[in-house]
Amino acid sequence: MSRSRTPHTPPKSHYRMRTKLIHGTSPTKRWDYDHHVIPPLSSSTTFRLSSVHRGVEGFIDFGSEDVPLERKVPIYIYDRLDEPTRGMLEENLALAEEGEICVAFSTGMAAIAAALGVCVAGGEEIIAHEQLYGSTYSLLTSWLPRYGIQTRWCDLRKPDALRRCATPASRVVYFETPTNPSLELIDIADIRRQVDALNHERAESERLHIIVDNTFATPYCQRPLALGADLVAQSLTKDIGGFGTDMGGAVIGPRSFYNLLMAYRKDFGGVLSPKNAWSILVYGLPTLAARMANQQKTALKVAQFLESHPRVEQVFYPGLESFPQKELAHRQMVSYDGKFAPGSLVYFILQDAPGSSRAGDHLVDYVAEHAYTITLAVSLGHIKTLIENPYSMTHFNLPPEKKQTTGIHPGGIRLSVGLEDWHDIIDDLRAALEAC
Ligand SMILES: *Cc1c(COP(=O)(O)O)cnc(C)c1O
Repeated sequence: MSRSRTPHTPPKSHYRMRTKLIHGTSPTKRWDYDHHVIPPLSSSTTFRLSSVHRGVEGFIDFGSEDVPLERKVPIYIYDRLDEPTRGMLEENLALAEEGEICVAFSTGMAAIAAALGVCVAGGEEIIAHEQLYGSTYSLLTSWLPRYGIQTRWCDLRKPDALRRCATPASRVVYFETPTNPSLELIDIADIRRQVDALNHERAESERLHIIVDNTFATPYCQRPLALGADLVAQSLTKDIGGFGTDMGGAVIGPRSFYNLLMAYRKDFGGVLSPKNAWSILVYGLPTLAARMANQQKTALKVAQFLESHPRVEQVFYPGLESFPQKELAHRQMVSYDGKFAPGSLVYFILQDAPGSSRAGDHLVDYVAEHAYTITLAVSLGHIKTLIENPYSMTHFNLPPEKKQTTGIHPGGIRLSVGLEDWHDIIDDLRAALEAC
């Protein structure tokens, strides 16, 4: 006699994030791919509408607050509005960052511009931490002022920073943590407490919002939304894409921002191409946890090796015992399974005359010529280890005074640790340090 079995499908929440990054929100209303193991790569700029009525419905649905997202079977009209492959990636990125929604852009910069664009208007202000990604800095200093949006620079590591920096016109607190390149941390939960205290006295329309660029940590190492951020911006070009093949960006946050972000993207046009979305959906995001776990193990070994080398003056890596903000690092940088997750970037300074970049430049040139495992290139978060000198390369357009106050040393070296065997990376670094 066979016993009848009650079918049992455990809820998605039962599964661990490493599993969820591989299977995503499948099945999804975005596409019926019940018979595909790999989601299809969609490539259609426009979509057949079976009737005028359906077209009208599609336009009404786009930007409507009335249809709950989870019940929404999208009516696709035109790629720039919405599209299935990118839509599937957006669902999975929202899951990865523990947010409700995600809107994907052509690059990280398009995502950052949109996150800011939906939160501030002319006559209002942004409060930003002093150390920022180079293009974000020039967006804030060369472009936004033309639209009447000014930025106040504030050292957000200091307690009570916002009480001193916020004005009635402030609408956004913007920062990266860890910062680029010197890997200083900003306490997201503490910024949330400071913003709550200020918002308490403000009308709804004048509230401050917290935007965190989470590119350096990736959602594997840190979930800013869970720590109190309102929006997260990501460059998908870096660790989430992971293989260095495609550019992309994303904004993740609560449902209340979805229509604004979608409308902004429709009109400014920086939409993520479905072909790029597909490779990030199929190769990048599903392997994020496996790559990050390995890269950060190697990063710690590399950082410890550098710290022990007599030619090295100082090493910054949140996983080192000597890291100045060690307590915060352990509290804030935590992987999905609750373990300390200090990331895959290392910043270090060689012994040299004060203010000189000679030793650093020499080492990077030696590596560029001789190292098999380390490539001189900008960008970061790839399976290949990359090295660069931020002072003269990625942070070139920061004024020298600003570089000095934010700890960007002329000879400082940024290393983005890849997936190579750690012995080989250390051997190449040792050879370079000994030759210089
Ligand atoms: C690369 C990067 C960006 C910009 O991303 P793109 O995809 O190159 O536009 C923004 N912020 C940080 C921290 C980055 O590393």
